[in-house]
Amino acid sequence: MDYYSSQITKLIEELSKLPGVGSKSAQRLAFHIIGMPQEQVDSLAGAIVSAKANIRYCKECYTLTDQEKCPICSSEKRDHQTIMVVENPRDLAAYEKTGKYEGVYHVLHGAISPMLGIGPNDIRLKELMQRLQGDVSEVIIATNSSLEGETTAMYISKLIKPTGIRVSRIASGVPVGGDLEYIDEVTLLRALEGRTPL
Ligand code: ZN
Repeated sequence: MDYYSSQITKLIEELSKLPGVGSKSAQRLAFHIIGMPQEQVDSLAGAIVSAKANIRYCKECYTLTDQEKCPICSSEKRDHQTIMVVENPRDLAAYEKTGKYEGVYHVLHGAISPMLGIGPNDIRLKELMQRLQGDVSEVIIATNSSLEGETTAMYISKLIKPTGIRVSRIASGVPVGGDLEYIDEVTLLRALEGRTPL
């Protein structure tokens, strides 16, 4: 049953495919968008299309960027021998916000989850191992403290140990199951400083 015109229904349908947007919020957003001034709607639609067209993975750390290498990997001020492994670009952003981490990152784009059928080959782990053949002195594992994050941390540390590179895990001042991006900067810094060797 179509309560609204098919155009509005289509907009609601598309919005409700976004994560965290239920059908009620999708309706609210759709009506909000329709009420917005034309230039704001154009700018929103344009930002979505151009982000999708121009954003790609950094060829070193696999975070999202619009260049071949992200600004962090291109920076000479960063310590390229220290790599912090995170699950996603949002976690990277959370650590960058602290302004205190001077190393570089590696973004896995997920975590190992036997329950969801996500194995080591489904995340950017091979790419991490390739990077470790270069000049690396420490790998800091900063995956979330969820079951998946811990499983991934254990798996990675087992892979790296034989290479002789120092591996550490951020301290668990981070609440269990807590997503890194929601944790305040002080807690993140404490977790980083209190990291323990694996
Ligand atoms: Zn990068």
